[in-house]
Amino acid sequence: MSGRLTVVGLGPGGDRFLTPEAREALEGAEALYGYGPYIDRIPVREGQARNPSGNRVEGTRAQTALAQAAEGAHVAMVSGGDPGVFAMAAAVCGEIEVGPEAWRTLDLRIVPGITAMLAVAAKAGAPLGHDFCAISLSDNLKPWEVIEQRLDAAATGGFVIAFYNPISTARPWQLGQAFARLGRHLSPDTPVIFGRAVGRDDEAITVTALEKAGDTPADMATLIIVGSPETRVIPRDGKAPLVYTPRMAATVNA
Ligand code: SAH
Repeated sequence: MSGRLTVVGLGPGGDRFLTPEAREALEGAEALYGYGPYIDRIPVREGQARNPSGNRVEGTRAQTALAQAAEGAHVAMVSGGDPGVFAMAAAVCGEIEVGPEAWRTLDLRIVPGITAMLAVAAKAGAPLGHDFCAISLSDNLKPWEVIEQRLDAAATGGFVIAFYNPISTARPWQLGQAFARLGRHLSPDTPVIFGRAVGRDDEAITVTALEKAGDTPADMATLIIVGSPETRVIPRDGKAPLVYTPRMAATVNA
C-alpha cells in the first residue's frame, strides 16, 4: 500500500463543523497526529493509533508523520479550524521543502476546515463583508515590530482585521498595545468583536468599541475582529447587535 498524509481541519469545535471530507479522512487513517487537545476531539477508533503532542513541536510532529506516511501508512495530521491558517499545513510543507526527496512525491492531501475568523464573523453578523485581513498577534514566530507595521498597514488600508492568538500568559501586554496602535488610525467607536470558544458549549460573543476593547477579557481561545471605518453596528431590541461591513466601500482613504 502506498502511503498518504492528509492534513485535516477540524473546524472551530463541535462535530457539526466537521466537513464530510474531513470525517472521511479521519475514519480512513491508521494513525493520527496533532496537538493533544485537537486529538482529544476525535472519537477513539479501534486500530487507529493516536499520537498527541505539545503545541511547540510542530516541526518534529510534521517530520514524524511524513516519515510514517513515506513508509506506506495512511496518516492524518489534525489542526483546529483550517489547517492552512496559522496551523499544521504550512509546517508540513516546510518539512517537505527541506526533507528527503521522497517526501515530495508522497500523496499529500490538505482538507480545509472552517477557520475561527469565519465562525466568529457568522455569529456577529457579517463583519467580513468587505476587504479584510488576518494577523496573528503571537510574537513567538515573528518580531513585535513586524506586527506593529502590519497593524499600521491594515488600519490605514481600510481593512477589517481578525486577530488570531491574541493573548497568552507568556504574552500579556501585546493585545493592549495592538489596540493602542490601531487607535492611532481608527476612531474610538470602531466596532470590535470578541468571539470566545466559538462552536463549543462555553461559546461567548461580545461586541464593544475600540476605546473599551482593552477592558474586555480575552484568552488563547478568543478570536477578535476589529472593524474598518465602514463597519456598522445595528442595535436590536432584546437581541445582540448585528455587526456588518457593507459590500460597497463609501470612502476613499486620505
Ligand atoms: N487553524 C486555526 C487557528 C490556529 S491559531 C483556525 O483556522 O481557526 C489559534 C487561534 O485561533 C486561537 O488563539 C484563537 O485566536 C483562534 N481560535 C481557534 N479556535 C477558536 C474558537 N473555537 N473560538 C474562537 N477563536 C478560536
